[in-house]
Amino acid sequence: MHGLYISIPFCRSKCSYCNFASGVFGQERLDRYVERLIEEIHSVRARASAVLALPPERVDTIYFGGGTPSLLRPEQLRRIFQALRAEFFLSADAEITLECAPGQLSDDLLEALPQLGVNRVSFGVQSFVDAEARAVGRLHTAAQTLADIARLRSVGIANINVDLLAGLPQQTEASWQVSLDAALASGVPHVSVYMLEVDEDSRLGRELLSSGSRYHAGAVPEDAQIAAMYLAACAHLTAAGIAQYEISNFARAGFTSRHNEKYWLRQPYLGLGLDAHSMLRGADSRPRRLAVADDLTLYLEQSAQWDCTEIDARAALEEAWFLGLRRNAGVQLSALEHEFGADALASYPPVLAGCVEEGLLEFDGDVARLTAQGRLFSNEVFERLLAPEMPSIHTLVTEDLHSVRGTFFSVR
Ligand code: SF4
Repeated sequence: MHGLYISIPFCRSKCSYCNFASGVFGQERLDRYVERLIEEIHSVRARASAVLALPPERVDTIYFGGGTPSLLRPEQLRRIFQALRAEFFLSADAEITLECAPGQLSDDLLEALPQLGVNRVSFGVQSFVDAEARAVGRLHTAAQTLADIARLRSVGIANINVDLLAGLPQQTEASWQVSLDAALASGVPHVSVYMLEVDEDSRLGRELLSSGSRYHAGAVPEDAQIAAMYLAACAHLTAAGIAQYEISNFARAGFTSRHNEKYWLRQPYLGLGLDAHSMLRGADSRPRRLAVADDLTLYLEQSAQWDCTEIDARAALEEAWFLGLRRNAGVQLSALEHEFGADALASYPPVLAGCVEEGLLEFDGDVARLTAQGRLFSNEVFERLLAPEMPSIHTLVTEDLHSVRGTFFSVR
């Protein structure tokens, strides 16, 4: 079974912290994009056959990410689903997620979602404190978010996630608690907690890197405060029955994201649309990672080509380590040995022992897991598990995860 990721890189406004390949491009370009995306859906299996003997066919998760997929008109989403159902066999219990911006879910689209099979919605809330949301350019209020959650439930969609972001300008540990309390009070069964990423790809990130003050950069909390917010989220959500199952993800029993689990378990998925990434296995079962460039003009002109990378055994083992360790379930050494052979694991014991000694990793039988401290400094652990001679794989996979919705966690 495969997962499908559908990229809708259009937003109503650009948030200052956003480092995704999304933009405010206008309705005419969105309309052209949908046409191009539908063409791509119809042609992708034939294209995949050219690089794999085994193109994807059966699908059990679909994730519409962006961008803001809730900007699609109902008829556009309907046509995308028609194309998907014509080209892929969707299992009857498929998990189908659509990312939404609170306050940007029309009545028409709301009504269409369950009819089309959408059964999970992820809201980019970031903060339930209106001044914090406003300071980074978000257009919604906490009241709109809560109203949208209620509207979704009224049409039968209760599998709802809210994203929260620690490290926003003006945020304090007390205001973070307000957001956590509001998320819990809303009764949603899934919460994702990210920390502000500071890099050249966002306006706020660039401002912070150059020690500027625009975009409220001077009001971004200190690293230690952000770390404390993350730890507070882990404690409060878990205490309330929303258990952590991955570095950034928390869910009530039965509500983990099946689609995102595919990334961490290295199960195959196909990405469609701008800047979409794929991990596919051929008949030889060796993984390939494919990426589409993030140039919208190229994509609309149909000139965007797949950048294809074969993942060799060494790189696959590294991925197994640092994707697997993201999950609270950890990594089973005997499973790694079964897949990669004992020789491939021979160099790891000293690295693992060092991580255990420093309190970053713990063992339960032959299962290695990050400790709470290890989750906070996961990048440090992952870097130690990477072969120094293959830094490109690190870049590739972290970019890939980034593209599928900020699942890469970093401490500034
Ligand atoms: S954070 Fe989300 S809503 Fe804001 S610009 Fe980025 S993709 Fe769009």
